[in-house]
Amino acid sequence: MDNNFDKIISFTKRRGFVFQSSDIYGGIGGFYDFGPLGVELRNNIKKSWWNYMVFQRENIFGLDSAIIMNPNIWKASGHTETFSDPLSECKECHKRFRTDHLEKNVCPECGGELMESRDFNLMFKTFIGPVEDNTSLAYLRPETAQGIFVNYKNILNTQRTKIPFGIAQIGKAFRNEITPGNFIFRMREFEQMEMEYFVKPGEEEKAFEYWIDQRMNWYINFLGIKKENLRVRRQEKEELAHYAKGCVDIEYNFPIGWSEIEGIASRGNFDLFQHQKFSGEDLNYFDVETKEKYLPYVIEPSCGLDRTFLAVLCDAFTEIEGGRTTTTESNKEKEILLKLKSSIAPIKVAVLPLVKNKEEITKKAREVFNLLKDKFSCQYDETGAIGRRYRRQDEIGTPWAVTIDFDSLVNDDVTLRDRDTMSQQRIKIDNLISTINEN
Ligand code: ATP
Repeated sequence: MDNNFDKIISFTKRRGFVFQSSDIYGGIGGFYDFGPLGVELRNNIKKSWWNYMVFQRENIFGLDSAIIMNPNIWKASGHTETFSDPLSECKECHKRFRTDHLEKNVCPECGGELMESRDFNLMFKTFIGPVEDNTSLAYLRPETAQGIFVNYKNILNTQRTKIPFGIAQIGKAFRNEITPGNFIFRMREFEQMEMEYFVKPGEEEKAFEYWIDQRMNWYINFLGIKKENLRVRRQEKEELAHYAKGCVDIEYNFPIGWSEIEGIASRGNFDLFQHQKFSGEDLNYFDVETKEKYLPYVIEPSCGLDRTFLAVLCDAFTEIEGGRTTTTESNKEKEILLKLKSSIAPIKVAVLPLVKNKEEITKKAREVFNLLKDKFSCQYDETGAIGRRYRRQDEIGTPWAVTIDFDSLVNDDVTLRDRDTMSQQRIKIDNLISTINEN
């Protein structure tokens, strides 16, 4: 694995962003837990997506549908039949691999001969109620999108909206991936942020291009990912699902290479058509002005939260040889700086009393902490030398550090330190919130 990727993985564990799930039991393949900093970063990414996709637009509505749904939904969507990957099993060691990920037609583990490839359905199965048979079989959703399609009519009827409109949802999805891996890039339980945008047939091309632009804009200007590390890859005709009119992948330049973080698809009316057919419900839209009746076409930007989270971390992770904050030659060490955009940083402000053994100073620092914690996510830290504390905050991407010292007691002011420039300015405590808000 790429050396830089290894460093990022161990960093995320060391600082409490990501843990292997069930760690003390030896882990479980393809599942991860998110620690105190991870959960904040994820929540901030989700908030940013929701704000950008839902709150900023009058015609996009939110939804939170169930994870387990009527299994007929997956028949209609085609998942029961075709949501599978080709699987190869080794005749010798019986390890299983995704056939399309193999470089040669032999077992990559032991070199043994492989059995004939077969299709493996990726949906996790479960049973509803006390009897475990085919009549009680259900699935954990492999995508959030179908929950949206089956609620299309509910939203249309209750929100007094007109085409074009969209439905957005954030939630867990489950895929029994044959080979999970590359850390949280390919997991068996993950989270998606999806939106289905319903348009009049004929309007889909314009809407498709619009959403590609909008989504790229979010990654660059709202998450702060470097433009040069993102690209739009248009899928070739042969790659497209049979119903799809177009599909692009937004890819990030991960240490493991360019890989998909979001797919944007122009899906025609495939999903509504199928659900209409299988449920028997009329899902046509009636345009009261033109008196036309039609099944809307759909544009779907489908973003993976975990891959976005990983891209944000990879993009922000900066190692500084020789350090920036250590001064003497002898103690110069490598330093890590996490250059996260301030709006998504897990901790916005660190509150640091210069010394911890002077009660007046810690008391004042607590006052400042109490003042700020209503407005920003804050961390109070009084242990260790001030330089070390700055470094700990730089590592987790905290954009601001507020230091309370002896002068603070006299002047009611503090030092405000900027993570990236390390510049420090003296600010009156009364002006602290507005100064942080302005920057
Ligand atoms: P891939 O080709 O990498 O398996 P996909 O094309 O099947 O992905 P989609 O079905 O388009 O993925 O899902 C939309 C998004 O959901 C992806 O862009 C990705 O960010 C995320 N995603 C899909 N599968 C996984 C997974 N196993 N682990 C983490 N995220 C995933």
